[in-house]
Amino acid sequence: PDDQFHPDSNKKTLVVLGTGWGSVALLKKLDTENYNVVVVSPRNYFLFTPLLPSCTTGNIEHRSIMEPVRQILRSKKASAMYYEAECTHIDAERKVIKISDNSDIKGDVHVTEVPYDLLVVGVGAENATFGIPGVRENSCFLKEIKDAQAIRTKIMDCVETAGFKDQKPEEVSRLMHMVVVGGGPTGVEFAGELRDFFDEDIKKLVPEIADSFKVTLVEALPNVLPMFSKQLIDYTESTFKEEHIEIMTKTMVKNVTDKYIEAEITRPDGKKELTRIPYGLLVWATGNALRPLVKDLMSQIPAQKDSRRGLAVNEYLVVQGARDIWAVGDCAVAGYAPTAQVASQEGAFLARLFNNMAKTEALESKIQELSSTLNVQPGNSAEIAKEIESTERQLRRVKDIKPFHYSHQGSLAYIGSEKAVADVAWLNGNLASGGKLTYLFWRSAYLSMCFSPRNRVLVALDWVKAKVYGRDVSRE
Ligand code: FAD
Ligand code: NAD
Repeated sequence: PDDQFHPDSNKKTLVVLGTGWGSVALLKKLDTENYNVVVVSPRNYFLFTPLLPSCTTGNIEHRSIMEPVRQILRSKKASAMYYEAECTHIDAERKVIKISDNSDIKGDVHVTEVPYDLLVVGVGAENATFGIPGVRENSCFLKEIKDAQAIRTKIMDCVETAGFKDQKPEEVSRLMHMVVVGGGPTGVEFAGELRDFFDEDIKKLVPEIADSFKVTLVEALPNVLPMFSKQLIDYTESTFKEEHIEIMTKTMVKNVTDKYIEAEITRPDGKKELTRIPYGLLVWATGNALRPLVKDLMSQIPAQKDSRRGLAVNEYLVVQGARDIWAVGDCAVAGYAPTAQVASQEGAFLARLFNNMAKTEALESKIQELSSTLNVQPGNSAEIAKEIESTERQLRRVKDIKPFHYSHQGSLAYIGSEKAVADVAWLNGNLASGGKLTYLFWRSAYLSMCFSPRNRVLVALDWVKAKVYGRDVSRE
């Protein structure tokens, strides 16, 4: 029995999976009155991920970068349903999805099905571990709010444990060794934030451990931030040196235990050497892997057989080999990097596409209606024929929707001690810059990109609060 959701039988049901960058950009621009819109996501808020690394140290409070999906949907012209649930299976044949409430509190019904006419998959990705033993059990990821909270708690736990009476120096060094694996932007930004936290707050409040605090960034490739220009990679690496963040490149982690990692270092002469690195806190940021739901859908579609990194989509973001299924963001492979910038442009594109599809249907039925009146009202035929012609013109315009085209606005990353790096598109060229001025640009760019004015005010207040009073070192 479906006692909450009464779809209008004249409209198609559009089901949107996820409340991340891709899905929310779609919902923002979608004319919801054209469809029965159903949103399914285990997370009842949108998360502004670019500022997540700042939440790990309390520079920004996590609720400042969350926007409730209920708030987002409330501002829409026609209401849309939201179910807090995970989609566990997509039955592409029957056009239904299976959803499951995996939160702590469950009602009598916690597993059910939702039928769809059109489906958008925007479920993002999981953290890649490459099957390396011990990663899941011993490290923190940095993808969701709960990850940032766990890191914030663990940093202070390490500090307080290191300060425990009679702790041996070797153990203090281990506890104060913060290791970050993955030199992509997530790892780099987190390492920078962590160093700031230590330099600006922890060092003053817990001076006895000051000499032991150390941050190490471990990267398998020869350099960090591969998506940035050589000049900015060098700038980041030299800034990290000044900040006393050690970068270990050409170092591939192979095994993780609760107290140390084992990594293979490739020496300049090509020789490989295994090393053991003790740590107190380990943050794992080695990029994306496929979600089980995405793997499951891909396994149902023969055309997805050769796709490895996600759902292969065509230039209209239609999942190759599937009927009425589109994909956006990190779970889709459209030939772009898995970034928020790409996901949000894809979401906005799909909104235009669906708005146009609805308009097309409305215009087509208007033409049909006019044509039938033409037969019964021959007296008005000239007028009706004119209207048909103008509607057909409109229809051609609406139908002529260009394929998705990504427009890259640039890459930005915070690297600590009030410095940032930016590769931005500028007057048909590229502008690479790094330093304090870029940091101000980074701050204003991210502030302006925050989801709502409320988020903007909260983030700005958090920055002021942290500057004036310092970050809160209480361990929750
Ligand atoms: P997500 O935003 O991850 O959203 C996925 C949604 O799907 C979530 O709501 C999730 O709860 C939901 N979901 C998951 N499983 C299911 C399921 N089974 N059923 C239904 N719903 C499900 N990119 C940039 O361009 N610039 C940046 O500065 C930047 N900074 C980043 C910082 C960090 C720390 C991280 C982790 C990423 C950053 N990114 C940045 C990358 C960016 O966040 C991602 O590319 C972006 O979130 C992808 O959007 P998405 O909609 O595909 O997925
Ligand atoms: P990433 O994929 O960009 O980087 C992961 C890094 O981990 C790689 O450099 C890889 O060589 C390294 N690695 C993998 N396995 C390893 C191992 N066993 N040992 C050592 N190193 C290993 O991942 P990310 O930084 O999480 O970013 C994910 C996506 O989100 C990217 O598309 C990125 O551009 C985007 N993002 C952007 C920003 C920004 O623009 N400021 C911030 C965060 C994330």
